[in-house]
Amino acid sequence: MDDLKYGVRDKRGDWKPNGRIEGAPLWNWPPRLPKILAWLPGYIWPWNAFHMVTALLYWFYIVPGVETMKTISWGWALWLYAVNAAAILVFYGIFELRYYIKRAQATRFKYNHKFPADAPSDVFWFQSQNLDNFLRSFFITIPLWTVVEVIFLWCFANGYVPWVGWQDHPVYLAALVLIAPAIHEVHFFFIHRLIHWGPLYRWIHSVHHNSINPSPWSSLSMHPVEGFLYHAVAFWHLIIPSNPIVALFQLHVAGFGAVNGHLGFDKLEVTEETAVNSHAYTHYLHHKYFEVNYGGDGLIPLDRWFGTWHDGTREGEAMMDARFQKKKERMNARA
Ligand SMILES: [Zn+2]
Ligand SMILES: [Zn+2]
Repeated sequence: MDDLKYGVRDKRGDWKPNGRIEGAPLWNWPPRLPKILAWLPGYIWPWNAFHMVTALLYWFYIVPGVETMKTISWGWALWLYAVNAAAILVFYGIFELRYYIKRAQATRFKYNHKFPADAPSDVFWFQSQNLDNFLRSFFITIPLWTVVEVIFLWCFANGYVPWVGWQDHPVYLAALVLIAPAIHEVHFFFIHRLIHWGPLYRWIHSVHHNSINPSPWSSLSMHPVEGFLYHAVAFWHLIIPSNPIVALFQLHVAGFGAVNGHLGFDKLEVTEETAVNSHAYTHYLHHKYFEVNYGGDGLIPLDRWFGTWHDGTREGEAMMDARFQKKKERMNARA
């Protein structure tokens, strides 16, 4: 595909999409139903549908029986870890293999013209972004994802929290599934904003930001505190009356969905004419500029409300620069 029909490439070779990043049209006033209906399929397909399918597969084939889960034990905890790790190895691995190892798409639709493998750096373990990000994902973050999973399954199994049945309240649970990505957005925005506060940033979140040019393995490359807080989004289903399948869906939106922001390509070519939108640009800008786009795609436009939204346009850039300038002046005035 010709990526210059969809964006521009600068002298360095970095590509950026035309137009602005549009948040969900749910917040436009007056509300426009046709726009919302046109947006809805992209909200469900393919990414959220995929997270639902994996949640169902887990529930029916992976998660042990309720009797087993009443008692926490290494057996089923390690089993869940093994499946989580294998699933991420395959799912993220497909993107890594196709777009970063085989480079099937070269730099078409690629925001940063460089590939991490070509840029060794001292900030990473073994000077390798790939190896560093991979080891942190599999030996720090995925174990903590599993800890969250074991805790909520154990709570449901023991009846410590309400377990809403699909037969009893199908509409309620379906609605909860639909708003789960919004719960993710709010949870992520606030923990993310928190760990951008100076001391916490240096202690915790700088690990994730070492990858200025993120690739699939960067998605879950986190400090343990962040790795736990990020997946703890599933604990909302211990507070809201819910069902373990919905909690699993919530967990998968976080764990599997993290890759979306870190794909590095705006579109993933499937055939000569068709491509899947990655939704990666918003978070790519966060990795590039740090203090913009703390949330996701603008499903809940928190960044807009807090004045930290960068929509990928020149105006977005100017707004960010003005904010940085003001911050500098404030700091100079204090000094
Ligand atoms: Zn990131
Ligand atoms: Zn950040």
